[in-house]
Amino acid sequence: MRNETSQKIQNFAGVLFYCIIALSVIAGISYLMLLQGISGAVALLIAVAMGTLLAFLYKYVCTGFGEIVEHQAEQTALLIKMTELMKDVANAGPATGSVTPRTAEAPAPAKAEADDGPNTPAVRLTTRAVGEIVCPVCRKPQLSNRNSCYSCGCRFIYDDEQPAGR
Ligand SMILES: [Zn+2]
Repeated sequence: MRNETSQKIQNFAGVLFYCIIALSVIAGISYLMLLQGISGAVALLIAVAMGTLLAFLYKYVCTGFGEIVEHQAEQTALLIKMTELMKDVANAGPATGSVTPRTAEAPAPAKAEADDGPNTPAVRLTTRAVGEIVCPVCRKPQLSNRNSCYSCGCRFIYDDEQPAGR
């Protein structure tokens, strides 16, 4: 969808490219018919050469512009991806990648989280982020005040919010 604009520009440039060449040929032929002889032929050649040159210049400018638009769209997409990745890294942190079953070393769940069922996976996070987090399991962005993922249901366990002595 975002490449439509640049595609249109390039198509338009291509059409105009041939239009200019055709026009220059027509102009050259009419010169030939008006002037006759060698001067007419020279006029035809000059007209076609000038027209072709003009067409090439025009196509170059338009195609260049189209490429710039396309390039910008790509860059924007890349920037969005990068931002998401950065958010991911910033929110998940290096020590939080491990998805642990709820039993074993994971601390006993708080009563408020108990309705998720005993087999809900849990993710340990070092600290609660401000604003938005991305679920490390399913990658769905959501508010950081949640204690479990709205999408995949995995629980978020914040190390700095666990009761001491466990
Ligand atoms: Zn999730």
